[in-house]
Amino acid sequence: MMSDGTHTLCPVHVTRQATFRCKQCGKPGCSMCQVSSPLGSFCSELCRERFEAFARKAQDVEMPEFKRPAFLRARAWVGRVFAIIAAVFGLLILGSTFYIPGLSQVAYLIRTFLGI
Ligand SMILES: [Zn+2]
Ligand SMILES: [Zn+2]
Repeated sequence: MMSDGTHTLCPVHVTRQATFRCKQCGKPGCSMCQVSSPLGSFCSELCRERFEAFARKAQDVEMPEFKRPAFLRARAWVGRVFAIIAAVFGLLILGSTFYIPGLSQVAYLIRTFLGI
């Protein structure tokens, strides 16, 4: 069988047309040598394993949250609490300065409760 030069043939099964390119090494391959994975098509198990190892490593770099030291996570939590306190005080000031139905009553109740 002769190649007409417009299609790439599988380097292993030289009479078959290549239907994909390996995502790891870039080699063309046909449906007989294709190794499929959720991440793509590969020419061999070795390429699939290498690519999956690479993808796992890339994921670790993108999501460091997991490995962050505990004090950094605590700081993020403290920041969130301060944001909530600031929002509550903002509403209290707003509710005391202007008359806003509902909010002013709530602000009055909270101020009574806090004694301020
Ligand atoms: Zn490959
Ligand atoms: Zn093949």
